[in-house]
Amino acid sequence: MSTLLNSSFTEPSASPALLLLGQKTDLSSERGVECTGDLPAASDPDLVERARVARAALGDRAFILGHHYQRDEVIDFADVTGDSFKLAREAAARPDAEFIIFCGVHFMAESADILTSDDQQVILPDLAAGCSMADMAAINQVEDCWDVLTDAGIADVTLPVTYMNSTAAIKAFTGRHAGTVCTSSNAEVALRWAFDQVGGVDGTGKVLFMPDQHLGRNTAMIKLGLTAEDCVVYDPRKPGGGLTTQQLQDARMILWRGHCSVHGRFSERNVTDIRAAVPGINVLVHPECKNEVVAAADFVGSTEYIITMLNNAEPGSSWAIGTELNLVRRVAAAHPDKNVHYLDSTVCFCSTMNRIDLPHLVWIMESLVAGRVTNQIVVDSDDAHWARVALDQMLALPGL
Ligand code: SF4
Repeated sequence: MSTLLNSSFTEPSASPALLLLGQKTDLSSERGVECTGDLPAASDPDLVERARVARAALGDRAFILGHHYQRDEVIDFADVTGDSFKLAREAAARPDAEFIIFCGVHFMAESADILTSDDQQVILPDLAAGCSMADMAAINQVEDCWDVLTDAGIADVTLPVTYMNSTAAIKAFTGRHAGTVCTSSNAEVALRWAFDQVGGVDGTGKVLFMPDQHLGRNTAMIKLGLTAEDCVVYDPRKPGGGLTTQQLQDARMILWRGHCSVHGRFSERNVTDIRAAVPGINVLVHPECKNEVVAAADFVGSTEYIITMLNNAEPGSSWAIGTELNLVRRVAAAHPDKNVHYLDSTVCFCSTMNRIDLPHLVWIMESLVAGRVTNQIVVDSDDAHWARVALDQMLALPGL
């Protein structure tokens, strides 16, 4: 059963599969570490006023970026909102801001650090705000994978493409091997470019796509016309990725076994159910959803695409949206003249995005006002150089 968001809102039930976060001490982990800040209480009645005062005191010294999946209480203080690609560009376009406060997750703050100058400091309000998908591809696993491709005799005809949702180390690996970063908005262009480097979509060259198997598969099959048989899934937890040399040699798309814990929960059954419940409804999903969900939907696209589709939709039209709930709730609130449903009643918020709340933002801003820089994200200079090469390659893609 779906949830109609803008006339009789029912909060979807919590998923039991929430990630355990903030329990580690490994600073290189995407899931981050426990945040030990002296946070104000969430119940502090002066919290919003404290945020206003601190924000005003920082003035132009700080620029606050808010990802679409952030809570409303955080978005209220964002200078700009957007998806990871738009926010990375916004960060790069603010050379005068001393502090970039990134209300998003760890890999986004890393990209902002890579794209901003050495004089600027990028801050993540909660160090435990990582991304479970990015955590599914560790650099040592990717290097092992490349060794497997080399042993299979195909590394020379394989180009790595990494989704924006990956660590700086994976982006650097991609830059070192002449590949490119991509986003959910430009995955088709990026994949066509990548195949062109190794003989074209109709040739025999290959792409190693990391870390989201669904975005890679959906783009290859729906946009480029490749088949399911052209795609293999490399499982980093199995010897040789769980694939034979022949399977690797026959493949065109080598998909990393990673996925988004939020989008991966939508099912084909959700689509069938909503169509039965609301005849004529438009089903609009994010390309991080599974292939069968995307194939059953009417429209597929990035968060920016989803927002644009609803902005342009006819009054009275019905929409079921399959993406993170904070965004869908805001889209529903912005369009009371349209019937907006959540595609599933049990999908949870992105638990890592949700870690950033107003107490963390107040703590970060008051610390800066007091002259203390906390939770700064700094990418190793060599990784930053090569990751920048891969990011610049993405920005140079045609049509961007
Ligand atoms: S929604 Fe998915 S891909 Fe995005 S930050 Fe959360 S876990 Fe990562």
